[in-house]
Amino acid sequence: MVEIIVNGQRVQADPEKPLIETLKKQGIDVPALCYHPALSPAGACKLCSVEIFAPNKPSQVKFSCVIKPVEGLEVRTDTEPVIRARTAAFRKLAQFAPEATVIWKLAEKHGINMGSPPDECIRCRLCVRACKELVGANALKMEKRNGAWFMVPTEGNRCIGCGTCVNLCPTGVIKQEDRNGLRIISIRDEVIGQNPLLQCEACGRYFATSKFMSRVDSKTDDHPHVKEHHRYCPTCAKLLSDRVKSASRIKRM
Ligand code: SF4
Repeated sequence: MVEIIVNGQRVQADPEKPLIETLKKQGIDVPALCYHPALSPAGACKLCSVEIFAPNKPSQVKFSCVIKPVEGLEVRTDTEPVIRARTAAFRKLAQFAPEATVIWKLAEKHGINMGSPPDECIRCRLCVRACKELVGANALKMEKRNGAWFMVPTEGNRCIGCGTCVNLCPTGVIKQEDRNGLRIISIRDEVIGQNPLLQCEACGRYFATSKFMSRVDSKTDDHPHVKEHHRYCPTCAKLLSDRVKSASRIKRM
């Protein structure tokens, strides 16, 4: 046996076994996914980093599954460089295997900030900006949850169900569903807005939310060519306007 110092404590270590075994014996929970005591170590997952201190030498971050204890070795398992190395390793693994929940659970257990989890949202904020700058509804915002940023609805049911965010979202993660006279806008399993739909006065088809049409009315109220507001779906509106145009052409002839 040799004597080493782990997080300031003197402990006995077996020089024939990888350092990670001594750490485990001391009750220190070092994350590792590729280590198995019956196999030769590979240092592949890179999670079991520790910081090694030697007199008159700069400290080094090393994999505790690879190095073996030697007399007087000084080890720390919780330093800034260790956390940095571990975070980078966890994130790399999550890139390789984004569906592997074991990585996310282990990272959470060890207090590692993994950034935003893969949920098909690339955090471009195009939807947030469009909803604020184009629509003026301000129904979306970025919010930090458990250390990661998510696009979420703002408080106060502000969504008018215009569908702009759905059309602009580059990954298609924001969904629109028209069901039973309601338009539901959602992301992941979170509802952004749920608004009643209006029926077209001509064909009876549901086509836009009442909130959206009220917004359009308020923007066009003082337009000189708008005499009264109708509720026509785009198809009927086009048919009617074509009919009006050809009627006025006939009149001119
Ligand atoms: S559907 Fe709702 S959240 Fe999306 S842009 Fe329109 S108002 Fe904003």
